[in-house]
Amino acid sequence: MLIGVLGLQGDVAEHASALQKLHADVRIVKKASQVRGLRGLIIPGGESTTIGKLMVKYGLPEAIEEHKPAIYGTCAGTILLAKEIVGSEQFSLNLLDIAVERNAYGRQRESFEADISIPALGDKPFRGVFIRAPVIKRVGKNVEVLAEHEGRPVLVKQDKYLASTFHPELTGDIRIHEYFISMCQG
Ligand code: GLN
Repeated sequence: MLIGVLGLQGDVAEHASALQKLHADVRIVKKASQVRGLRGLIIPGGESTTIGKLMVKYGLPEAIEEHKPAIYGTCAGTILLAKEIVGSEQFSLNLLDIAVERNAYGRQRESFEADISIPALGDKPFRGVFIRAPVIKRVGKNVEVLAEHEGRPVLVKQDKYLASTFHPELTGDIRIHEYFISMCQG
């Protein structure tokens, strides 16, 4: 099972290490030719405008369109999957029917942690690390909300696309990566 981690910015090594613990073969993806053969691709957090520009520059959107890997976007990765980015014309892959607002927790709560209940992963709460996170403002009718925090969706799925507004790679808890790998198998 070959899974890619987009290696343009963000916690690339942490995502790769979580996938390796789950015995996936990992490829760090920087250019279009590296998308071929991937069952899944993780888009790490970072700055979504920068990651988007680099993706376009390296021809990655076309390669993703051609090979159609499952994708898991974390934080900025969620923004890059969203059909709508409130008040922004920046690049997105347009694959997940959600509207997101960037940095929407405001200055008071730029970064915070919270225990998130994710029924699909069992009873044990997941420690959510939110870093200048986006807020999911709307979800389309085909989008499954797997977890919420304070009434807002924070982990969502549609077809083979998964997105969390928090960073699971910083906690050592690999259950979401495991869930994503099972999506890639399906
Ligand atoms: N604030 C970033 C953005 O809007 C996302 C932050 C993150 O990925 N941790 O692109």
